[in-house]
Amino acid sequence: MSPASLDKPLTLALSKGRIFDETMPLLAAAGIQVTENPETSRKLIIPTSSDNLQLIIVRASDVPTYVQYGAADFGIAGKDVLHEHVAEHPGGLYQPVDLNIARCRLCVAVRRGFDYEAAVYKGARLRVATKYVQAAREHFAAKGVYVDLIKLYGSMELAPLVGLADAIVDLVSTGGTLKANNLVAVEEVAQISSRLIVNQASLKTRSAELQPLIDAFSHASASLA
Ligand code: ATP
Ligand code: MG
Repeated sequence: MSPASLDKPLTLALSKGRIFDETMPLLAAAGIQVTENPETSRKLIIPTSSDNLQLIIVRASDVPTYVQYGAADFGIAGKDVLHEHVAEHPGGLYQPVDLNIARCRLCVAVRRGFDYEAAVYKGARLRVATKYVQAAREHFAAKGVYVDLIKLYGSMELAPLVGLADAIVDLVSTGGTLKANNLVAVEEVAQISSRLIVNQASLKTRSAELQPLIDAFSHASASLA
């Protein structure tokens, strides 16, 4: 038994929903099972079949914060969330592996019939509502388009329909939600998948325990690429 396993178990921060679900096969590849389901359990700290690993369940956008401060040794977060987090809180996170899970695209979308091409000439001004203000700012700056960014926390699809914004920057997978709201994706901002993130101090002090898990995740996710 390693000395650390007498101590605190390693803590992996996950959000429930698709990241939790798509992480289970990666844990299984490392020989670890999780019997408790965060959708039905109210527990925020979930044990695993390994005495040396526990999960904590947090909001997707809070995962980098828990890992950066060392409250979790490692975590899994979408590149969308990571990009916003790192822009505001640089340093402190290793991002060793793209896990190729929770894949989708960050897109610009507008109301069907809105002439986007005509609206985004160089020097134009556009009102953009999004949860992803950093990514949106960089995307439009690169095009030479001025944007008034309106920060939202959810239901971005509503904004162009009620005149809050001309466009949104949001995650798209099937496009079903856009279609249901009479919106169309007009531009891709980034391809999104989730990355493993590791606290820098943990990587140094607990690498003997972490590295086999990082390797197993990395190996299992390579088959998803
Ligand atoms: P919250 O529900 O806490 O406000 P959220 O809506 O961002 O946060 P999820 O919907 O679980 O949480 O998304 C978590 C991550 O999964 C996102 O950061 C993104 O990387 C990825 N994701 C989001 N939507 C999709 C999708 N439709 N298909 C695939 N991956 C997605
Ligand atoms: Mg969501």
